[in-house]
Amino acid sequence: MFSFARSDEPGAFKYSRMGNPTVQELEKRLAVLEKGEKAQCFASGMAAISAAILSTVRAGDHIICVDQVYFGTREFLEFFLARYGVQVTYVDGTSVDTIKEAIRDNTTLIYLESPTSYYFQLQDLTACVQVAKARNITTIIDNTWASPCYQNPLAMGIDLVVHSLTKYVGGHSDVLGGAIIGAAALIDNLSRIDHQLLGGIMTPHTASLMLRGMRTLPLRMERLSKSANVIAEYFDTIPCIRKVNFPGLSTHPQHELASSQMSGSGSLMSIELKSTLEQARAWVDRLRYFRIGLSFGGYESLVLVVGLVPDMLQDHPVTLIRFSIGLEDPADLIEDLSSIHQFFSLNMRHDKLG
Ligand SMILES: *Cc1c(COP(=O)(O)O)cnc(C)c1O
Repeated sequence: MFSFARSDEPGAFKYSRMGNPTVQELEKRLAVLEKGEKAQCFASGMAAISAAILSTVRAGDHIICVDQVYFGTREFLEFFLARYGVQVTYVDGTSVDTIKEAIRDNTTLIYLESPTSYYFQLQDLTACVQVAKARNITTIIDNTWASPCYQNPLAMGIDLVVHSLTKYVGGHSDVLGGAIIGAAALIDNLSRIDHQLLGGIMTPHTASLMLRGMRTLPLRMERLSKSANVIAEYFDTIPCIRKVNFPGLSTHPQHELASSQMSGSGSLMSIELKSTLEQARAWVDRLRYFRIGLSFGGYESLVLVVGLVPDMLQDHPVTLIRFSIGLEDPADLIEDLSSIHQFFSLNMRHDKLG
């Protein structure tokens, strides 16, 4: 005889969209790692983010969101939630006052991402929680950059943490996934409606790949964090780089806050290079170790020319380039990146002659 679930057995696995043992194993481990009571996994980071937001707002509510939030989240708020009359105010979250001033009578959610993933600006999480709790407003944070290893916002009073597991937890650039972690009551509340009915669930096969990634997560994070600091310090010495955006650097304007609320760094950073877009693209195409890519958190290094830095005061164009540092030997990466000296001194001379 096969042993099927009994019809009166609570929590038995009867249909995979509603619960699966492999996915549940991953959820248990994620909850422990993120210092939360319960986790719910999803097909992607965006599935987790949209479900987390949908579970907390109703038609006519008002959301406060950091203006440099992940572009998918911003588009979800602008194109999807706008249909249902949900209003959003975008704030520069570097000062908690901008958040406080944006609060309205119908504000029900403050959505954070610290640090943001292009300019790496932080929000003071403890201060944000204080402001939100005083008004009974829910807080959600996208914690993808720091990973559960280096920042645990639930312990600071944030209500829900979301992750794109596609990045550090998966870690091998071969799988998409997302998760929401928080108090059991909040997770149970969204599991039935926002998780099961929208259908963006994680498959057991994906969960098995995520469990494999998790086995080496702390080791990979330690290596990536160290290498990223080495590369950021190297970038900081290069004259044609106007600014290095990386919270791990002691020269980052919010370095002190970063050290107080994170115990390490993700390996994604950006530089503001004094160059045109075309020059930046030509240099990036010559790099041997850095593949072109939008993702991060994998074993190999990636680079992305994001675009021109909007800045009316500068007399030269400045291009934002984002780097995801991988598991390679940082000395090899620096040797590769050192082509920047020759490339830009030649180009600048060429520009003057031309
Ligand atoms: C990648 C990413 C997401 C979206 O995750 P997907 O798994 O691609 O859906 C959300 N937030 C941040 C910060 C990300 O880097």
